[in-house]
Amino acid sequence: MIFLNGQFMPIEKASISVLDRGFIFGDGVYEVIPVYSRRPFRLDKHLHRLQHSLDGIRLRNPYTSEQWSDLIGQVVDKNAGDDQSIYLHITRGVAKRDHPFPDVPPTVFMMSNPLLPPQPELLEKGVAAITASDNRWIRCDIKSISLLPNVLLRQIAVDAGAAETILIRDGFLTEGSASNIFVVKDQVLLAPPKSHLMLPGITYDVLLELVAENHVIHEVREISEDELFSAEEIMLTSSTREIMAVTRLNEQPVGTGSPGAIFRQLHQFYQQYKATHMRG
Ligand code: PLP
Repeated sequence: MIFLNGQFMPIEKASISVLDRGFIFGDGVYEVIPVYSRRPFRLDKHLHRLQHSLDGIRLRNPYTSEQWSDLIGQVVDKNAGDDQSIYLHITRGVAKRDHPFPDVPPTVFMMSNPLLPPQPELLEKGVAAITASDNRWIRCDIKSISLLPNVLLRQIAVDAGAAETILIRDGFLTEGSASNIFVVKDQVLLAPPKSHLMLPGITYDVLLELVAENHVIHEVREISEDELFSAEEIMLTSSTREIMAVTRLNEQPVGTGSPGAIFRQLHQFYQQYKATHMRG
C-alpha cells in the first residue's frame, strides 16, 4: 500500500497529474527512511533533514513531526516485511506550467520497498568505485528529487561495472552519487565536512557518533583527490547500503584490495547499533 495525498491505496490505483511540478520541473524533495524490525531508524533525524530540504526550496511542511511519524507508521503497518525502506516525496503540487510558485497544495507520496541487507559477498570482498568530476549544482545539501546529475554520474559506474561513482570537486572529495564517502589515510579515518556541496547523510552521522564513542582516531576535514587515491581504505555509507568497503578505485586496488581492519570494526559497530535499535 502506498500513501498519496492523504489516502492509502495499492500502487496500481495511484495516479497524479502530468502537470505535477515534480514531473514538469523536478520541483520537490524526498527522503529514504530505513525501517528495521518495523521501527523507523533515526526518524527524527530524517524528519529534521526533510525540514531542511523543504526550507531550502521554500515549500511549507504539510505535516508536523507527530503527523509524519503517525503516517510513516501506518505505511509500515500496511506493508509486509520487518525491514522496509520508506520513500517519502513532496512536490510543489499541480498547476499550469509556469516557473513561479503556484498557490496549490503540495503532492505528498510515500511507498515502502523491502530493505535487503547488503549481500554477504559484497561485505566480504568490497565493491568497485570510479571517480568523476562533481558537476552537480551547489545545493547538494538539499535532498532534491531533481536527480538527473546523480543518475548520469551513477551510470558511469554502472557502465564500468562498478557500484558507485565517487565525486571530486575542485580537487577535493565531496561524496558518492548516492552515498557519503569515508577514507582511511595513515590509519586515521577521514570524513569530509558537511557543507552545501554534499548531502548530510544520516548514516554518515551515525558512523561519526560511533567512532567518537569507540575512540577510533578520526578527523572531519577536506580530503584531497591525492589522499583519496593513496588511501589505505575507502568506505561508503547510505541508509540502504549501510556501510560498505570500496576495494577498487578506477580499476586499481585500494590498500590491500580487501576490506580493511577499520572497515570491519565500523561495520561491527554499525550492526551492534542497529541491533540496539531493533530491541528498542
Ligand atoms: N549522498 C547522496 C547524494 C545520497 O543520495 C545519499 C543517500 O541516498 C547519501 C549521501 C547518504 O545519505 P543517508 O545516509 O541519509 O542515506
